[in-house]
Amino acid sequence: MLKILRINTRTKEFRFEEPGAYAGLGGRALTSRLVFTEVPATCHALSAANKLVMAGGILAGSTAANSGRTSVGAKSPLTGGIKESNVGGQFAHKLPRLGLLAIVLEDKPEGDAPFVKILVKQDTVEFLPADDIVGMSNYAAHDLVKAKFGEKVVTAMVGPAGEQCLMASTIQFSDPEGRPSRSAGRGGMGAVMGSKKVKAIILDPECKLEVPMADMAKFKVARKRWVDILMGHPVTSQGLPTYGTAILVNIINEVGALPTKNFRTGRFDDAAKISGETMTETIKARGGQYKHGCHTGCVIQCSQVYNDKNGKYLTTGFEYETIWGFGANLLINDLDDIALMDRLCDEAGVDTIEMANAMAMVMEGGALPWGDSKGAIEVLKKVGTADPQGRILGNGTAFTAQAYGVDRVPVVKRQALPAYDPRTVKGVGVTYCTTPMGADHTAGYAVCQNVLKVGGDVPAMGKAGQVEVSKNLQVATAAVDSLGLCLFVAFAVLDTPDALQTIADMVAAATGKPTSVDDLVNMGVNALKDELAFNKAAGFTDKDDQLPDFFKNETLAPHGTTWDFTAEEMQAAKVG
Ligand code: SF4
Repeated sequence: MLKILRINTRTKEFRFEEPGAYAGLGGRALTSRLVFTEVPATCHALSAANKLVMAGGILAGSTAANSGRTSVGAKSPLTGGIKESNVGGQFAHKLPRLGLLAIVLEDKPEGDAPFVKILVKQDTVEFLPADDIVGMSNYAAHDLVKAKFGEKVVTAMVGPAGEQCLMASTIQFSDPEGRPSRSAGRGGMGAVMGSKKVKAIILDPECKLEVPMADMAKFKVARKRWVDILMGHPVTSQGLPTYGTAILVNIINEVGALPTKNFRTGRFDDAAKISGETMTETIKARGGQYKHGCHTGCVIQCSQVYNDKNGKYLTTGFEYETIWGFGANLLINDLDDIALMDRLCDEAGVDTIEMANAMAMVMEGGALPWGDSKGAIEVLKKVGTADPQGRILGNGTAFTAQAYGVDRVPVVKRQALPAYDPRTVKGVGVTYCTTPMGADHTAGYAVCQNVLKVGGDVPAMGKAGQVEVSKNLQVATAAVDSLGLCLFVAFAVLDTPDALQTIADMVAAATGKPTSVDDLVNMGVNALKDELAFNKAAGFTDKDDQLPDFFKNETLAPHGTTWDFTAEEMQAAKVG
C-alpha cells in the first residue's frame, strides 16, 4: 500500500505512514481532507501550524491518459482559506514509483535557519544544503539540480518569490523535458513552502517501483475506451492541441467577455494579435512546438514550446489566462512581450493571473501607462528581488491595489479574477463567488455551457440555470481533481454518455474496489464539504461570496451587462 511521507521541517525527522483515515483518497480529496483535519483553520498560513501537502490523484502512476496532475494543498496565505492548487509536470506519476501517496511538510524551522533541499528516496529522506541554489531563479536553479541529480530528476521548487514568502508565489514543478515550467500557481503555495525553508523537493530518479494495479486486463479495456473518448471530441482532439487554451482569445472576445483594461470592456481591439491562431503561426515559423504535453501520458497536449524571434526557447505552458492578463487586460498587444512576462513569472515563481491583475493595479494607480509592455517587463523583473515594488506586486492584486490606492479591484476572497468577465459569462461568475478557492475559473468552468455549448446550453448573459450549472461543475471538478485527471478531459466527458462510467471502470480496475459513478460524485461532494467547513471555521461568511461592487455598478460593453446576483442567491451553489 502506498504511504504518506511526513517530514518535520524543524526537527528534520520523517516517517512513512500507512494512510489510515486517508485510505482511498487521492489528489484534492486527500489534500483538502488532511488540511481540514490537521490544520487549525485560524492559524497564520505562514506559521508552523500550517501543513503543505502534495498528492497525486487516485489514478496517479497508472497509464490512464491525462492522469498525472498533482494537487498541492494548504491554508492559503493569499485568501486565508483552504487551497488546492492543481499542477501538471512529472511529480504525481513519480510519487507512486517511490511507494508514496503523498508528501506532507510540517512545522517550520526557527529563526534564520538556512533553506534545504529535500531528497526523497525509497524509505528514506536526505536533507541537503541549498546554498548553491538559494536566491536563484527557477530555470538556473533547476539546471544545477539536474547537473547533480541527473537529467531525469523530478522536482518541486520555489523561486525567489517563494523564498520571500510572497503571497502570490508558486511552486514550480518539472515537466517531461526537465524544465521547472509547471506552476502550482494559485493561492501562494510557494510562500507556505518557503516559510518552511524548503527550496526544493527532489524525487530520486533511480527509484522505479512497480505501481500497484488490481486488474490490469480490465484496466486496459477501460483505458482504451478512455483514449477513444478523448480523441473523439473536437475540443480535446483538435482545438486544444492545435491552438492551446489560447484558442479562447478570439472566442471570448467575440462573446464580449474578454476583460480589457482592468475589466472595463469585454472586447479588445487587438485580440487577433494575441490570439491562439497567431500564437500557433508564430510557433511554427520559429521552430517551436504547438502540441505538447505537460506530463507523460497526456493525449490532449494543449501545451506548447514558444520560441523567441531568434528561435531560442522562451516559454512553455503559455496559457490563455496569461495571454489575456498581460495582454488585453493591460492593453498590450505584443505576444513576444507577453511570453517574456510568462517566463519572468516562472523564473521568480509567481502566479501569472495574480501578477497580471496586480500589474493592472499599478497601471490603474497611474504608476505605469496602460499598454506599456516594456515598462511592465521592468516592473516584473523586480519581483523576487529586494526592491519594494517587487515585494508589493509579489503579494498579489489586493495588496498591490492597497499600495496604489485603487478601488476597482477584481478579487474574490483576495484572489484575482481570471479571464472571463462574470457580467457576460454569469455561470463562471457564480463559480468565482462560491468556490472555496477564491476567484478561480477552473473550480467550475461554466464557460463550457455558457459559451462553448459543451455539456448543455445555458445562455451566458441570463441568470437562469447558472447556479445549478456552477454547483454541478464544482462537484465534478473536485472529483476530477481527486482522481488526478486534467480538467480539460471535461470537454469530452460532458458530451460522451459513457465517459463517467469509463472513468469509474478505470478506478475500479486500478484500486480493486467496486466504483460507481455515484462514488465519483460523492468524492467531489465530500471534498467540497471539507473545504467549505474549513473556510467557515477560518471565519468566512456568506458575505465573502460576492463580486466587488464595480461589477454591479458598471455596465460592460458591448452588451451592457451587470452582475445581478445577490449574496443570498449564491448560497444555493454550495453543497449542503
Ligand atoms: S491537456 Fe494540457 S493541461 Fe491537461 S495534462 Fe495535457 S498539457 Fe497538461
